[in-house]
Amino acid sequence: MTSSEQRLAAIRGGVPARRHNARTIAALTGNPGCTRRAVLDGAGVDKPKLAERIGFPARFGQSRFAITRGNAFEAQVKADGGAQLLRLVAERLGVPPGERADWTDLGADDLPDRHRRSRAVLTAAVPAGPDEPAALFDHPLLGLDVAGRRVHLEPDLVAARLAGRFHVVEIKSFPVIDGQADPGKVAAAAIQSAVYVLALRELLAVEGHDPELVSHDVVLVCPRDFANQPVASLLDVRKQLLVLRRQLDRMARIDTLLAAVPEEFTADLTADPATLTAALSTVEARYAPDCLAACELAYFCRHEAREQTAALGRPVREALGGVPTVPEVLALATGERTPEPEQAEAAALLRAAARLRAEALGLPA
Ligand code: SF4
Repeated sequence: MTSSEQRLAAIRGGVPARRHNARTIAALTGNPGCTRRAVLDGAGVDKPKLAERIGFPARFGQSRFAITRGNAFEAQVKADGGAQLLRLVAERLGVPPGERADWTDLGADDLPDRHRRSRAVLTAAVPAGPDEPAALFDHPLLGLDVAGRRVHLEPDLVAARLAGRFHVVEIKSFPVIDGQADPGKVAAAAIQSAVYVLALRELLAVEGHDPELVSHDVVLVCPRDFANQPVASLLDVRKQLLVLRRQLDRMARIDTLLAAVPEEFTADLTADPATLTAALSTVEARYAPDCLAACELAYFCRHEAREQTAALGRPVREALGGVPTVPEVLALATGERTPEPEQAEAAALLRAAARLRAEALGLPA
């Protein structure tokens, strides 16, 4: 064990590291500048349990109903040996689907076997040219390194070989209504798909194939309107791949991250809540409203950052650059405080806004 590994094990109290999956890897990109999150995720700390222990339990996750509906939709889309799925994907990519597609289910059994089988089957299927027959591969098991640990990804995805390239196909149960889907859900699907694209590219590269054979265009299949009729759309995940690579590289340099963390820092779940809270506050965080949908510690960090202007979101942080706290904002708006030279512009805007508010409400200026 390296000294970093020892330190990470000590941080989580000697218990085994929590396993990542595509959703948690995708979530790593939600706030890449946050050291607190990078260290806790790098150490494999059970963040949902940590949040609960310190009195700020996470409040997100899929409902049982949504999971059941998602599984039913996925089974429907994959029925008929993937014939309907192939037609949808081919139509969306603008390529002929061919007579029929080979459907290979890589199974749901033991990790090492399935990983070996996935690698063998997918590399044997690397297309030699655009005329190769279409093929669909269900339940492949892929892998990625996160903070020096190998993470197995068990996607429900189908990797499709069409027109000489592999495409990741992601099946989601949120609806596309009048051609529009919830932008937040599409963004989450895009980053999760990018995790699969990256893992599939790495698999090909390790076996000596061109990673670019895996397209950055992901096919997203969702139910249309309020029926269960599937509809496919294309997502270009190049931007997500860049962000993901950058964050994984950062986590790979765990020594650098640990250098910013006090030696006695602990996230040991057997410690008392006050010790854990005090320890967390010694590691820099960058709370933003986006954290609420992406990180289990969001309610704790929001509470901690409640007087910080950054906690109100990027537009507010940018508009109030150089004014870090809400009490300072209020003091500048009322003129009780003289702005520093670099706060002059923000202060003028705040005073104007306060004047307008007073006029609108009929209050003394
Ligand atoms: S919730 Fe806290 S730890 Fe998580 S990313 Fe946001 S600031 Fe960082």
